[in-house]
Amino acid sequence: MSITTETESHIFTLDEVELKGKRVLVRVDFNVPLEAGEDGRQRVADDMRIRAALPTIRAVTEAGGRVILMSHLGRPRGEPDPALSLAPVADRLEELLEDRVRFVSNDVGRVVRETVESMPEGGVLMLENTRFQPGEKRNSEALAEDLASLADVYVNDAFGASHRAHASTTGVAGHVKVKAIGRLFERELSTLHTLLEQPAQPFTAVLGGAKVSDKIGVIEALLERVDRLLIGGAMSYTFMKALERPVGASRVEDDLLDEARTIYERAEDKIILPRDHVVAEDFDNDAPHRIAEGEIPRGMMGLDIGPATIGEYRKILLDSQTIVWNGPMGVFEMSNFSKGTFAIAEALAEASDGGAMTVVGGGDSVAAVNRSGYADRISHISTGGCAMLAFLEGKALPALEALQS
Ligand code: ADP
Ligand code: MG
Repeated sequence: MSITTETESHIFTLDEVELKGKRVLVRVDFNVPLEAGEDGRQRVADDMRIRAALPTIRAVTEAGGRVILMSHLGRPRGEPDPALSLAPVADRLEELLEDRVRFVSNDVGRVVRETVESMPEGGVLMLENTRFQPGEKRNSEALAEDLASLADVYVNDAFGASHRAHASTTGVAGHVKVKAIGRLFERELSTLHTLLEQPAQPFTAVLGGAKVSDKIGVIEALLERVDRLLIGGAMSYTFMKALERPVGASRVEDDLLDEARTIYERAEDKIILPRDHVVAEDFDNDAPHRIAEGEIPRGMMGLDIGPATIGEYRKILLDSQTIVWNGPMGVFEMSNFSKGTFAIAEALAEASDGGAMTVVGGGDSVAAVNRSGYADRISHISTGGCAMLAFLEGKALPALEALQS
């Protein structure tokens, strides 16, 4: 794919730049969950994002470039935090690549530079968590220049961090002459582009999750494109309350009622709300629970969509040619309230088998799909939660703009 933006500028792909013998600084998104292993040491709990970066890393090593990887992990406060070191990630990458991965915990300086210089062509080095440096989130010029000084070529493959203008995602690009987009970033973009520009119809969106406030922009943007918007999760209750339907003790964002009502009234023919719910006495897997039709009984809270809703949503999804899904249908972390979410995952898998294009994004949504067992039958699982939502909302991605030549 060659990416040409509306202006005359161009974004180069890995196939279009010379990599042999070059020092190639690659921003990846290795912001992965860690857990304590049996030996008490930290290890990677889910390596999906590491695997997703392999095509780009291999493209550079196979072309004879030297790879210098950088990523953030978690939210350290601009200073080293041993619990958020990328060392366990480097270990996991080494296993996946079946090749040595050098890891240097120092800031950019003599040690890093010497390691880069001594690396053979095809070698891989990983830098420590970019957010250990105060300049990362501030997008400091000094850090951007330091990072750029390591590189002949800058490659960004961190779609998941592309909505942020940080030193390693954006600033650094201004100081390296040759820059390119990585394979994963490219694939994410082309999928989302198809979704927005040429979706096969019918086009259905499924939105759920914890809060409406995170997703107002996306709801509005998608309503202009989709034929149907299926709502689930806690988001349903803000809409229901806005329509003056009883919601019991369900989670509601009261400051968004007006906005939810306006959106609903504008797109009543497209928006579908759950017709039944799994309601519980408490936010607890062991709390007494049952199915409630229509309204939520007093004192109870809605924690999942009910069987009639599952049936209705499933039918619509199986009749769709394009589906985008963000936000679980219920509190899927608790087994008694996970059925709705897993049923939607199953419906997406079946729709994909039938030829539909299906896309899932969002940290919790992707975790849910992975847990459901249907992940490999879904067309595209995005590595970008907020970045995907920002793109669907039509917002510019600063890291993408910075790649333009
Ligand atoms: P994503 O990370 O995929 O964008 P969100 O972060 O918006 O999704 O929402 C995920 C969270 O929403 C989950 O932790 C889930 O437990 C919660 N959730 C879903 N439905 C409900 C509900 N009815 N009440 C309370 N929380 C809910
Ligand atoms: Mg989330």
